[in-house]
Formats: sequence, structure tokens, C-alpha cells
Amino acid sequence: SRALLFQDLKKKDHQMMQSEKLAALGEMAASFVHEIRNPLGVILGSAETLNKKVSQSVRSEMLQFIREEGERINRMLTNFLDFAKPKPPAFREVDLKDILQKTVELISMPARERKVRILQEYPKEKVLMFVDPEQVREALVNLELNALEAMPLGGQMTIALTENEGQGVVIRVSDTGVGLPPGVESKIFDPFFTTKERGTGLGLSIAYRVAKNHGGTISAVSNDGGGTTFILTLPLRKGMLGCF
Ligand code: ADP
Ligand code: MG
Repeated sequence: SRALLFQDLKKKDHQMMQSEKLAALGEMAASFVHEIRNPLGVILGSAETLNKKVSQSVRSEMLQFIREEGERINRMLTNFLDFAKPKPPAFREVDLKDILQKTVELISMPARERKVRILQEYPKEKVLMFVDPEQVREALVNLELNALEAMPLGGQMTIALTENEGQGVVIRVSDTGVGLPPGVESKIFDPFFTTKERGTGLGLSIAYRVAKNHGGTISAVSNDGGGTTFILTLPLRKGMLGCF
């Protein structure tokens, strides 16, 4: 009878977990739909305006809206898929400098628009590491976009890569922005935690998972002179054997 009771309890536990999961899924879907509707509204409105007789400057403004909001939706979907259905990491040897440089290219347009200067500090030689390049790229783009979003009035973003003698690498993304809101340090890596009106709260949870997948760490510190620094460490892995 003990065994039966135990089985029953386990079943109840399972049922509760399922209903909790369903509730979380519903909440997530609702917030997601809401987040997509906003940029979609801007796109549809801009298309409507383009359909009327408008000046060239309004036309290019509308086209810019459509492009920006389309990219926004695209990024949200990428983040969401990464979060909901993570691919197993595919490790290979790459030059981390290459990856970092590519992420900077990706955000250079919005950075220019925001009057954010980007400084890159890398070692002279190649920094060969055994990582999943896609995942590292995704983590960094999210850190860099957060840095941009923290500097609505412009500022400076510094991306620094340093080698940690025989141990791995440290990547720092720092900004001169608004700083972490007080009391949120323990929550920022939680999925769906956001303090932004238009945030999804997935960026840092993805970066956290990427760090974990590589056996590394991620943390945030407030800068002395204002702004925030995110520190991603990736340990050294030599060859396939070191991978798992
Ligand atoms: P989102 O950017 O959609 O809000 P994230 O997971 O990327 O979600 O970030 C979670 C929260 O962490 C942000 O809402 C913000 O409060 C805080 N945060 C992240 N990066 C920074 C930063 N560079 N400066 C200040 N706060 C930040
Ligand atoms: Mg973000």
C-alpha cells in the first residue's frame, strides 16, 4: 500500500507540474504575442502611409520603420527559438577575435544611430578556442544590444577579450549607460525578466545558457563611473576530448 500511495503521489506531482508548465506556457505565449503585435502594428501603419501620396522624406522614414521593426521581430523569433528549442552545441575551433568582430559589424548601424562609440580591445595574435561559434555569437549580440539599449543618449561600449594564462578567455562588454536598476542583480539572468517596456527578457538567459554549455560563467558588475560590465568567461578546451 505504501508503494501505491507513493505512485499516487508521484502521479499528482506530475499532474501539478504539467498544469504549472501549461500556465507558464500560456503566460509566455501571451506576452510574446503582445511583443510581436507592437512592431507588426508599426509595419502595417507604415505600409498604409506609404500607400498614400507622401513626400520623399516621409517615404524613407516609413521604409526605415519597416526595416527596423522587421529586424526586431526577426531577432525576437531567433531568441525565442534559441530559448525554447536549444540546439545541442556544435563545437569547433575558431578565432574568437573573428566572432567578436562580426558581432560588432552587426550592431554598428544601430550604434551609429545612437551615437555610441565602440572600442574593441583584442590581443594581437589569433585567439583560437574550441567553442560553438553560433552560440557565442548569439550571446555576445545580446550583451551588445543590451549595452546599446542602456545608452539611449549615446556613450561608449568597450568589448575586451583577454586570455587567462592556460585557463581560457575572458570577454568583457561594458557600457557607460544607465546602469543596472537597483535590486535586480539576482534576477537578470532569469528567462522573461525584463525592466524594459519593449523587452522580452530572453537575451541574458540565452547568454547564461551559452556560458553554461561551454563550462564558463557570466556575471554583471556596476562600473565605478556609471554603466555596467558583463563578464563572460570561457574555459580552455583542447580538442574534441576536452569537450564533454
Ligand atoms: P531584455 O533586454 O529583453 O530586457 P535581457 O535578458 O537581455 O532582456 O536583460 C534583462 C534585464 O537586465 C534588462 O531588462 C535590464 O534591466 C538588465 N540589463 C541587461 N543588460 C543591461 C545593461 N547593459 N545595463 C543595464 N541594465 C541591463
Ligand atoms: Mg536584451
